[in-house]
Amino acid sequence: MDNNIRNRENKAKIMQEKIIDDQIHEKMTLENVFKIFNDNVFPMLNEEEKDYCNQLQDFCLELNPKIDKSKDVYVLFPELGKHGYMQRINLWNDFKPYGMKKEILLGTHLSMLDSQLELGRLASGILCGNPTFHYYSHGGTGDTIQKVQDELMSGQKIGCIGITEPNRGSDAVNMTTIASKDGDALIYNGEKVYTTNGPKADYFCAYGVHSAEDPRGTMVQAMIKKEFGVETKRLKINSVPRVHIAHTFFNDVKIPREYILADNGQGYVRLFEGLVPERLGIVN
Ligand SMILES: Cc1cc2nc3c(=O)[nH]c(=O)nc-3n(C[C@H](O)[C@H](O)[C@H](O)COP(=O)(O)OP(=O)(O)OC[C@H]3O[C@@H](n4cnc5c(N)ncnc54)[C@H](O)[C@@H]3O)c2cc1C
Repeated sequence: MDNNIRNRENKAKIMQEKIIDDQIHEKMTLENVFKIFNDNVFPMLNEEEKDYCNQLQDFCLELNPKIDKSKDVYVLFPELGKHGYMQRINLWNDFKPYGMKKEILLGTHLSMLDSQLELGRLASGILCGNPTFHYYSHGGTGDTIQKVQDELMSGQKIGCIGITEPNRGSDAVNMTTIASKDGDALIYNGEKVYTTNGPKADYFCAYGVHSAEDPRGTMVQAMIKKEFGVETKRLKINSVPRVHIAHTFFNDVKIPREYILADNGQGYVRLFEGLVPERLGIVN
């Protein structure tokens, strides 16, 4: 027998192997998972938080049967956006309640609904979205970043963050992506890895440095549109087949001034301002 056919048959056998009895399996519904959550977590929540969780649970129970697990998670973003569920740390379009605790409750519920959707949502709504809010809270002006924010929060566009570089991993500071000045604009040259949503992203919130010798003093944060010339190659991460994760390339990518979120070392401040709520969100 052809090796490929044998492999496929073996794979099918592995997929069919059941280790949970039917009477247990049929009770493993989202509704029951929420009941367990409510029994354990509601005693620690106030009335506003319980109401918020009940709304989230109604939303999840309605969306659950409509999720097509053969499709990438991105088709579901607009559905999240309609309800202000792309993120809940920051106030956007009067969607309340909001704040870090609400974001953690949102992430917890979406993880129970569809953990891959939660990964893609967090990368777009928080990792790429948060910097748009930080931009204005630090005195940024103009409509350009507001438009990016609205597109990300509504789920109409997809965002990602580019921090991690090849051969750097946990060392988020010592970057080698170089941001050179070109008048008011910046030119990025470098590579990022593990860019969640990268192959599908419209926006890359990516960090670079003017000098690799002084990353803290020269770090830059910019919102880079795909069409500025970003290239990606999809990495094969088997555990999340419905989320696209990239090796990202900036080859002479020119970024106009209005897309530069923080320059001349302020990028370093924003990196760590972002990492704290981002990592809290990721624990889900
Ligand atoms: C699925 C996935 C999605 C991701 N999405 C993104 C994304 O969207 N954007 C992005 O920028 N990055 C992303 N990352 C990158 C992620 O943040 C890095 O994987 C992480 O920073 C660790 O880097 P590394 O995997 O290369 O591990 P390494 O840095 O090689 O670490 C390997 C091991 O060494 C340990 N270690 C490292 N340094 C130290 C130290 N100084 N002291 C003690 N122990 C240490 C680590 O804890 C770990 O156990 C993603 C990664 C994955 C796997």
